[in-house]
Amino acid sequence: MTDCYKPFEKHENITQLKPLLQIGCCYLFSPETIERKEHFMDKKFKFLEYDKEHILHPYSPSVPANEIPLVKSAYGVFLELDDGKKIIDGMSSWWSVIHGYNVPELNDAAADQLSNMSHVMFGGLTHESAIRLAKTLIDITDESLEHIFFSDSGSVSVEVALKMAFQYWGSQGNKKKNKVLSFYKGYHGDTFGAMSVCDPVTGMHSAFDGILHKNIFVEEPMCGFDDEWDETYIEAFQKTVEQQHEEIAAVIIEPIVQGAGGMRIYSPEFLKRVRTICDEYGVLLILDEVATGFGRTGKLFAYEFADITPDILCVGKALTGGYISLAATLTSKKVIQGIESNGNVLMHGPTFMANPLACAIANASLELLLNSSWQKSIKRIEAQLKDELKRCEGLGIVKETRILGAIGVVELSKEVDLSFMSQLFVQKGVWVRPFLNLVYIMPPFIISKDELTHLTSAMFEVIQEFEVYIEK
Ligand code: PMP
Repeated sequence: MTDCYKPFEKHENITQLKPLLQIGCCYLFSPETIERKEHFMDKKFKFLEYDKEHILHPYSPSVPANEIPLVKSAYGVFLELDDGKKIIDGMSSWWSVIHGYNVPELNDAAADQLSNMSHVMFGGLTHESAIRLAKTLIDITDESLEHIFFSDSGSVSVEVALKMAFQYWGSQGNKKKNKVLSFYKGYHGDTFGAMSVCDPVTGMHSAFDGILHKNIFVEEPMCGFDDEWDETYIEAFQKTVEQQHEEIAAVIIEPIVQGAGGMRIYSPEFLKRVRTICDEYGVLLILDEVATGFGRTGKLFAYEFADITPDILCVGKALTGGYISLAATLTSKKVIQGIESNGNVLMHGPTFMANPLACAIANASLELLLNSSWQKSIKRIEAQLKDELKRCEGLGIVKETRILGAIGVVELSKEVDLSFMSQLFVQKGVWVRPFLNLVYIMPPFIISKDELTHLTSAMFEVIQEFEVYIEK
């Protein structure tokens, strides 16, 4: 009887199926009924049609312009589509799948944890997977970061960081510090607090005008990673903090790489100066390593390039090797003591906080990463990206290429046509999803030399064909 258990699915044909037994909103179907249902759901065109008619995708109209690929399975660097086509994932499913897909060590960790418990509430209870993960994260980040808060996603880890900063000052009686200083071209997530610190022009501020908390923004870092340092680069930031520090609770920044707001790579010296100025004026520093964390830039955490210490650190995405959603916010004893002044506590507590399944997979992912020669892999990828993306600079439409670690960016002088380009990429056997005027990749660390050449060649060819297409 137990293998007949299926949750109720709302569909005109399915709802007509008669369950054997109903318990609450759960239904027990007979094996024949399930067979009929699966037969019905097996028709490929129905899946795509249903998706098109009902399912919203990120930042997309409810009726998509083009059919989107249906992924059947994934292994290594490959996504296998329902027509059997295999494409190389150049995006690591948005920075996260660092070990590739279907990794035996992570599969085993998930199965082991499932056989104990998939989930248990974290309010008033604890479990070994979370404790082990907390210890690893505290051990591999700066020694001043001694406390950790687990949450479900990068955006929520940023919400928690903002709460920590506001509560730190508020608990100590300073209610004037009620703003965050953020940077143009910054991106920190899609929830309300996180959106309020994203770039106010390219971010989502106009869609939520009058609703978002008003923060302060300053010019983005204008110095490239290797640029010689010039004091003018930090002037705007210095001046803003000097003039408004009394209302600034914290500065938030993505260390070294501004990701989804523009894929910009800047000098470690800039970050160093941000830290010094925050200290000088009594402002907390939040580093958002949700995208850059866990080796992507060539350092385990990008802040290590600047040899600084954050007050609050956000991590997510690659934390579970891209298997399942999990994020964390780490902070210092000083911040926690500040928050807890006058008997207060940090006010956050998600239902799936420190989900055991996610924690177990994160433990396996970190073990795999830390026991591998990931630095060598990143160096190899970086050298190959530098070598192979250079020829893009010969195309008239290309403004510049930027490479750091396993991140390769080609900036165009024109806005991309997502639909034209992504279809062409799939035809060429790769998955790359351009945005703004950027065609960029951040492949899994396990990508082979030939697979990476396939990716960079496809980037060159698609940009070249796009140039011809828009000139027509
Ligand atoms: N911060 C940064 C730097 C990010 O790149 C992202 C995701 N792109 C987020 C926060 C939000 O993470 P999530 O999508 O998991 O909420």
